[in-house]
Amino acid sequence: MRTIVKNGTIVNSDKVVKRDIVIENGKISTIVKHATIEANDKVIDATGQYVMPGGIDVHAHLDYPGTVDNFESGTKAAAKGGLTCIINYTSPLKGQSVLDNVREWKKRAKDSYIDYGFHAMITECNESILSEIPLLANEEGITSIKLFMAYKGESMVSDLEMYKLMKKAGETGMIINVHAENGDVTDQLRLEAIEQGNTSPIYHAYTRPTTLEAEATNRAIRIAEVANAPVYIVHVSCADSLNQIKLAKDRGLKVYGETCPHYLVLDESYLKLPDFKGGGFVCSPPLREKEEQKHLWEGISAGYIYTIGSDHSSLMFEGGKTKGKDDFTKIPNGLPSIEDIYHVTYHFGVHEGKISLEKFVDITSTSPAKIFGLYPQKGVIAEGSDADIVLLDPKRSRVVSKEIQYQKTDYNIYEGFKLQGNITHVLSRGEIVVKENQFLGYSGHGKFISRKYFSENSID
Ligand SMILES: [Zn+2]
Repeated sequence: MRTIVKNGTIVNSDKVVKRDIVIENGKISTIVKHATIEANDKVIDATGQYVMPGGIDVHAHLDYPGTVDNFESGTKAAAKGGLTCIINYTSPLKGQSVLDNVREWKKRAKDSYIDYGFHAMITECNESILSEIPLLANEEGITSIKLFMAYKGESMVSDLEMYKLMKKAGETGMIINVHAENGDVTDQLRLEAIEQGNTSPIYHAYTRPTTLEAEATNRAIRIAEVANAPVYIVHVSCADSLNQIKLAKDRGLKVYGETCPHYLVLDESYLKLPDFKGGGFVCSPPLREKEEQKHLWEGISAGYIYTIGSDHSSLMFEGGKTKGKDDFTKIPNGLPSIEDIYHVTYHFGVHEGKISLEKFVDITSTSPAKIFGLYPQKGVIAEGSDADIVLLDPKRSRVVSKEIQYQKTDYNIYEGFKLQGNITHVLSRGEIVVKENQFLGYSGHGKFISRKYFSENSID
């Protein structure tokens, strides 16, 4: 049976056209001016709507210790919010084989509603781990690793370890994701704050200044340069750090920035909310001064920030964030947001006139697909691509509320936000997952996607 999306406005990262889409066997088979309808065709009327490639969130933490969204609830929330593919981080145990770890994660993701892949997180470096890196790509279809420059004693690697891991991954044709913060100095600033009796959530921001994020960003970029490896800086939160990416990019290095909608929309004043409400907004890097937001939007428009990620960490407020009521250093880091990133970015980006529709598609779908080896299977409305499609009606709006969300947290960081633009349909490989307010997807429909090497990609 064919599905036909009729009368819509197709938005790709390079152009906007009015066309009909014919879908067969989960793929886009043809794109034509006027599709002729046959007897058994299922027809979706997209009059007045934007028809866009499904959102790809390349920064998710589903099924992490201490969080409430597993792959089932997390990908359901993601699909409801316009995402059709995620790349989740794995979380290795000390001493465990990286290959064993990613195989475990693949099993944990089997209940997903939408397609998924993984970045292999690596938190230590030895000969056995180095020898496994090529196998991650060659045998497991995982073509990116993630390294941390913060959280000493948990996930932080030293500069030397980072160099060795980057070099090996680079030689293999993989890309390296880096969490760029200066872990050593941050830890000291946190100790000093607590010693001085500064225990409230805002000190989480004050002890992670933008200059340290910039320092780590520069260090990651310079070490990647020497290791001859492409580097992807996750969750860039400020102009200081963005400027390091600009300098590197302008020198011709393969450096790619990501930001998260919460850095574009929320600011550090949320950390000062009374009654410990600010604790619900603790993430790393922290929310910044409002001033930073316009620089990040400019970084998107100028092509230094390529993607937006959710960094979804489904921590509860009660019993989760409240662990740090008397000491901000005990507040678990991370924000729940996978359900709203697409809408929030559309509203504040396109509706408010900061970015074009094409740029919206670029950062939510096309560039994530290109950087992480999913393109052109995903990230574009084109003949032969997966029919991962979102229909958005720009004339309708919705109000965000924890009362109606699918993600399982007891709060929503965008509570009460009225967002222009409403998703009416989401298709995952041709199957209708969301239709108006109905959720029609099923657990287990999502498939693991084996990704191509970074070195085969077409992105500059
Ligand atoms: Zn993260």
